Amino acid sequence: QASVTLIDGKACAERVLAEVAESVKHLAAEGTIPGLAVVLIGEDPASHVYVRNKIRKAEAVGIHSFEHRFDTTLSQAELLSLIDTLNKDPEVNGILVQLPLPDTIDEEAVIQAIDPLKDVDGFHHANVGGLVQGRDVLTPCTPSGCLRLLQETCGDLTGKHAVIVGRSNIVGKPMASLLLHAHCSVTLLHSRSVNPKAIARQADIVVAAVGRPKMIDASWLKPGAVVIDVGINRVEQAVDGENKGERKTRLVGDVDFASASQVAKAITPVPGGVGPMTIAYLMQNTVAATKRQHRQAGQP
Ligand code: NDP
Repeated sequence: QASVTLIDGKACAERVLAEVAESVKHLAAEGTIPGLAVVLIGEDPASHVYVRNKIRKAEAVGIHSFEHRFDTTLSQAELLSLIDTLNKDPEVNGILVQLPLPDTIDEEAVIQAIDPLKDVDGFHHANVGGLVQGRDVLTPCTPSGCLRLLQETCGDLTGKHAVIVGRSNIVGKPMASLLLHAHCSVTLLHSRSVNPKAIARQADIVVAAVGRPKMIDASWLKPGAVVIDVGINRVEQAVDGENKGERKTRLVGDVDFASASQVAKAITPVPGGVGPMTIAYLMQNTVAATKRQHRQAGQP
């Protein structure tokens, strides 16, 4: 097997962000600065890291960010009232509510309250339905980023057999729609699939979005397959040397990178693969949302 190509998500994300920054410049010249409102509730450490990174990237490409942080005493009615205010605020073009929300709040009710034109996560029913029908709507950031990585790696995807492991609403299902519109033959695998490995071994493209560390190894892959690893799993790592016995964690994907690299033609690393693309496409969606809102308002 020839040596495997590492799909560099960081470098690709930088290219996407450069395109976004260029669009922001054009919009600014017309007198508009795109605005992204980020709502964060509670103290979940991972959510805090994600929100910080999103805000940092927004500023870096010239998008205004509006941060709304609350503790878990915020009621659902108060959150819905904030969403209503943001929906009406002309300076806010994108609204992102960082998930998961506390148990006291109905996530679905909050997502559906967001104006679909400002729904930069692409989770509103109007956008989900639009994506399935192949209309030009805001699409979820992670699968959009995966599609871009695949297009840059493989070129035209027409006729390729893509197997997606995982059928969640935020990754697996929208990924299937995007690849279908790119003319792939698409198979979705999930926890009830029978003999999933044999099915995955027929794939030209494997997208892993399972949430199980290193589940997909070489035995799942056809030689020469292109592998996109969406998984972000925090696992404990043994510490050697002076600090032996300490507890340390590190991030691993859903793919066993060392094993899969022996068989795959190209593969994303974790970290540095899909993660940076997700944030880049959040920025891209914010700009797309801004342009669409202007079109609807009859502005250039
Ligand atoms: P979910 O838990 O919502 O979905 C997991 C899916 O995997 C389900 O459809 C489940 O099947 C399926 N599954 C579970 N076990 C198996 C198995 N043994 N064989 C086959 N399929 C199985 O996860 P998400 O889609 O939200 O996330 C997936 C991973 O991607 C996670 O590691 C998450 O952290 C990561 N992620 C990364 C992002 C990024 O920016 N890089 C963004 C979003 C997620 P069933 O439906 O039958 O239960």
